[in-house]
Amino acid sequence: VSRARIDRLLAELNGLGAESFLVTHPVNVFWLTGFESSNAACLVSADGVVLATDGRYIEAARHVDGVEPLQAERNVTAWIAGKLADLAQGGVAFEADHVTVAQYEPLRESGVQLVPTKGALKGIRAVKSAEELDAIRASAAVNEAMYQRLTGESLVGRTEADVAWWIVQTLHEEGADAVGFDPIVAGGPNAAVPHHHPGERPIGPNETVIVDAGATVDGYRSDCTRTFATGELPDELAQAYDLCRSAQASALAEVRAGGDARAIDAIARHEIEAAGIAPVLHGLGHGVGLEVHELPILSDFSEDVLARGNVVTVEPGVYLAGKGGIRIEDLVIVEEDGAEVLTPFTKDLVTLV
Ligand code: ZN
Ligand code: ZN
Repeated sequence: VSRARIDRLLAELNGLGAESFLVTHPVNVFWLTGFESSNAACLVSADGVVLATDGRYIEAARHVDGVEPLQAERNVTAWIAGKLADLAQGGVAFEADHVTVAQYEPLRESGVQLVPTKGALKGIRAVKSAEELDAIRASAAVNEAMYQRLTGESLVGRTEADVAWWIVQTLHEEGADAVGFDPIVAGGPNAAVPHHHPGERPIGPNETVIVDAGATVDGYRSDCTRTFATGELPDELAQAYDLCRSAQASALAEVRAGGDARAIDAIARHEIEAAGIAPVLHGLGHGVGLEVHELPILSDFSEDVLARGNVVTVEPGVYLAGKGGIRIEDLVIVEEDGAEVLTPFTKDLVTLV
């Protein structure tokens, strides 16, 4: 168990008017206890941490220090709901944005006072500790090694799916425990679709290829996008590349602690809109950590303010429907006066034929 993390959650509890917090999201259980299981819940209070899991994981739970392990039935949430009246005093905060309607029924019937919360742990997790930042740096370094090796590959004639598989293998060879997410490889008209799923289309000459990939190291993700050319580009795509690169640099220059996430998104958004060649199809970026999409969010509807220790992406895209697209994504640590960039791969246009 991480005492510092438990303390941060307990501090949050005071403001919620609850005495304990029932944590059911597996990623949040892992973040608090270091216990990895698809089926576990923990109840955190000033008195201690109860960790409930089913028989498949109970032996591992007994080796987690600082918790009281309890063997639950397969439906852990329903099981712990039945014990809540005994285990908890006062109000019990729970993750309303993760508990399903079916899981809520036994909680409601437990008779304890429930305090629904949304994003409480996500909010705390958005500010990373020094150890977490080191893990993300290590994950980004593995991803960088993959991009460096990609410059020795040829793309034309290979399918997107083949290149995506090469990325998965190379990330493993460079030390990833797993991919951070399924890599995106999108060539030609497919590059105009921001989250294109790599398919059987062979990559052609003189087009753009978006490569969006990341690794997982010690549970922590990385995330980087670069767009490659497969030969000389039509003027329209070459201009779009310069526009995307410029908008990305403009927004990145404004990332710092205290920065208004919506205003930083607006910098890239307005620069792209002003060029009048493509609509803006997605927000500027997102937090990265144990999950690939975390807080804070940099977008047109965000109310987040950047804090020192946030890890965020800066990834504007310029998408020309039917023709091609460009996205350039850096992963950065938010610092007091700027950002530490974890994705040093060049943003000059690299041609791979
Ligand atoms: Zn990405
Ligand atoms: Zn991203």
